[in-house]
Amino acid sequence: MNIEQKAKQTLSEIKLNKKDKILVALSGGKDSSVVAYLLKKFGYSTLPSRSERKGTSIEGFHIDLKMGKYSEDCLNAVKELCHNLGIKLHVYDIRKEMGNSMCNIRLNVQSKKSLKNCAICGVIKKWILNKEARKLKAKYIATGHHLDDEIQTFLLNILKGSPELNANTGVISRNIKNEKFIPRIKPLFYILEEDIKKYSLKHKLPVVYEKCPCAIDSYRIQIRQFMKSLNKKQKMNLMKNSEQISQKTKKKNEEIKYCEICGEPARNKICKMCSILRK
Ligand code: AMP
Ligand code: ZN
Repeated sequence: MNIEQKAKQTLSEIKLNKKDKILVALSGGKDSSVVAYLLKKFGYSTLPSRSERKGTSIEGFHIDLKMGKYSEDCLNAVKELCHNLGIKLHVYDIRKEMGNSMCNIRLNVQSKKSLKNCAICGVIKKWILNKEARKLKAKYIATGHHLDDEIQTFLLNILKGSPELNANTGVISRNIKNEKFIPRIKPLFYILEEDIKKYSLKHKLPVVYEKCPCAIDSYRIQIRQFMKSLNKKQKMNLMKNSEQISQKTKKKNEEIKYCEICGEPARNKICKMCSILRK
C-alpha cells in the first residue's frame, strides 16, 4: 500500500464524517503539511461560502512560538501551504496570547523545575490546541504524528518502566465523550517518516525540513539514534507490540475532571499545563 492508501484506510478506521470540521495542527514541518495535503486531496476541503453553514471543512491552525528565524520560516511555510490548498489558516501568536515567546516561557519553567524543553513545549501546545479547537467548534484535531513518533514514544515509555503510559496511543487519542475535550487524530499513524519525507518532496510542499533548534532532549535523541539502526520490519514489529500493550492497558470509562485553575479537561485536579506553570 502506498502512503495515500494507508492514510485513507486509517481515516476509515476513525470513521470520519466528511461533514465534521477538522482542524489540522500545522507546525510548518513535513508531517502535518502532508496531513493537510492528503485531507484536501481526499475531499475534506473548505466549502464555498454558500454551503459553509453545513460546516464541512478542514482548517489549519498554527501556533507561532516566536522563536526567531525558525518560527518565521515555519509561519511562512504554513501560510504558503494553506494558500496553495485553499484552506483557512488560524494563527495563534504565543507572545500576544501568553505574554512571552516559547523560549522565555520555557526558561521561566526551568528556573523552578527540571523539565526538558520538548516536554514543556509539548504540554503547552496540547493545551492551546484543545482550547482553541473547541472555540473554533472543531470536531477533531489532526496532527502529523507518524509511525516513527509512535515507536519512539513506546520505547521511551518502556525504558522509563511505564508501559501503561502507552494505553492511550492510537489513531485517535482517548476516545472520550466530553464536550470540552477535542479528540486528536493521526492520519499518518501507520506511515514511516522516510515515506512522508519522500511524499512531501515529490509534491514540492512548502516545508521547513530543519528540526526545531530547541529539540535537545537527550533521551529522545538517543532513541532516535537507536531507531536509525532498525529496518522497516523491526519497526513494524515494535508497532505491533505497542498496539498489543495499548489494548491490554486501555482504561475504560476514564473519568475526566476539570482543572481547578484553568477549567480545561484534566486527569488530575490540576492540569499538566497549570502544574508546570505554577511556582
Ligand atoms: P512535534 O511534537 O513537534 O513532533 O509535533 C507533533 C505534531 O504536533 C505535529 O505534527 C503537528 O501536527 C503539531 N504541532 C507541532 N508544532 C506545532 C505548532 N507550532 N503549531 C501547530 N501544531 C503544531
Ligand atoms: Zn489548568
